[in-house]
Amino acid sequence: MTIIAGVLHDPESGKSRRAEARIADGRLSVDAESGPQQATLGAVEITTGGWQAQAVHLGWRDGAGRTWAFTVEDPAARAALAAALPPALAAKVAASHGAERRVQRSGRLALALLGAFFTLPLVLLALLFAFREPLLDWVVARLPTSVDARLGQLTAEQVKATGKLVETGPAVDAVKAIGDRLLAHAPAHPHEFRFAVMEDPSLNAFAAPGGFVVVHTGLIAAADGPEEVAGVLGHEIAHVLRRHSLRQMAFELGLTALVQLAVGSADGAVAILTGTAQQLSGLSFSRDQESEADRLGLDLLQAARLPGEGLPRFFDRLAKEGGNAVPAFLSSHPQSDERREALAAELARRGEWATDPLALEWSAVRDSVAAKN
Ligand SMILES: [Zn+2]
Repeated sequence: MTIIAGVLHDPESGKSRRAEARIADGRLSVDAESGPQQATLGAVEITTGGWQAQAVHLGWRDGAGRTWAFTVEDPAARAALAAALPPALAAKVAASHGAERRVQRSGRLALALLGAFFTLPLVLLALLFAFREPLLDWVVARLPTSVDARLGQLTAEQVKATGKLVETGPAVDAVKAIGDRLLAHAPAHPHEFRFAVMEDPSLNAFAAPGGFVVVHTGLIAAADGPEEVAGVLGHEIAHVLRRHSLRQMAFELGLTALVQLAVGSADGAVAILTGTAQQLSGLSFSRDQESEADRLGLDLLQAARLPGEGLPRFFDRLAKEGGNAVPAFLSSHPQSDERREALAAELARRGEWATDPLALEWSAVRDSVAAKN
């Protein structure tokens, strides 16, 4: 005899209670409140149920036509039941087992989908983060250059509003002459460059998107020749041509703004980027951007037949004169030994090239800004 634990559903009282069913001699018997109930196994119908099909229902009719049911849920009791039943009925119990596994599998799938629903945004964020660089490149590449121009114009207005723009004089003439010389030999580009000098004692220079390039009087006063300024300007022009400022502005935006930037209009892009344009001179370029600007800057110097040693010489001067404070130029154009070495190696690789000196009276240029520092 096999005793199976389960739940008896009594059609007389309409109640369900825990009970033990006995299987012996081809018969199923269970003690109901109203007395013992019996059925031949051949008259017992086996079905499965429960939300994971984990329940096996044994059903039979009594002499009065009422349907009794005994439900087995416990896996061990189900196994004992299957072992006690003739093969044809045992197969139905086993089938319920398979159904359970299938349902459990689909349950797990449902759980996984539910999990995915909640984790998908996180996964997307992680992906966006991982692919931020190509995403930024893509966003910047699809912005029309009218965006660069407008941002440059806004920056020019801001700089002008400080009242510190040097309008005329030898320093302005010198910076324009150097810039024009470099641009005359630069590859074709859609930008309209303007060169300006600003009264500011810090050793700095910066370029807004679109080609508004500003050199501080402090940098001009510290440079011991136009070649150093040419080196700096070549580097700044390279940043503009490669749209590095625009990219850094986009880089500092949140994801939402970046998406807006990607799908919006040129005017919308200007509006979004204007906020970050406030700290344009404080934007810090990436190491890759610096290396790229160094190389392209050298290209520009070489094409313009200007010496290439100006920029490394200027860096050496910054290192010497900067003291403990990091010069402004280095905080926005991060310097590193690696970059310094790459620049030196690049210069060595190209060898000396023929140069046409800039016809500038440098001492007069320096004197003209000395009073302003
Ligand atoms: Zn730079």
